[in-house]
Amino acid sequence: MTDTNCIFCKISGGEIPSKTIYEDDEFRVILDISPATKGHALILPKEHYANIFEMPEQLAGKAMILAKKLAKHMTNVLKCDGLNIVQNNGEMAGQTVFHFHMHLIPRYKQDGNEEKLCWNHLELSQEELDDVFEKLRQ
Ligand code: AMP
Ligand code: ZN
Repeated sequence: MTDTNCIFCKISGGEIPSKTIYEDDEFRVILDISPATKGHALILPKEHYANIFEMPEQLAGKAMILAKKLAKHMTNVLKCDGLNIVQNNGEMAGQTVFHFHMHLIPRYKQDGNEEKLCWNHLELSQEELDDVFEKLRQ
């Protein structure tokens, strides 16, 4: 299933050209048009799912396996010093294109992103910690 208004459906389906670095029946991996660093790539499933919540488990698993393979390949070829795998869900989490995608971001010493891709550390009280723990434990 694809969404006719979705740019990543058009890209993953080949309707809009992209710098494709990998393709199989289920995924297309492209270079990000506005990269955080040299080699920033996006894993796109060819089917339209807005986010991780909509993705079938099997396909989400395959996306992660592909991310692992590509992370190794990219590190070998680009000789990067690290690599972030990022996946945003929802506007509040920074998602801007609502077709599931995983970012593969090669990291280099002094690549200018040291202050980004990170978050503040909260100091939670014991009570708050216990509260969230009780909500989340399965
Ligand atoms: P997110 O903020 O997680 O939704 O990420 C969306 C990413 O898609 C951003 O890094 C954009 O630079 C990238 N992007 C948007 N449009 C295109 C496009 N036409 N081709 C390649 N990358 C794109
Ligand atoms: Zn789509």
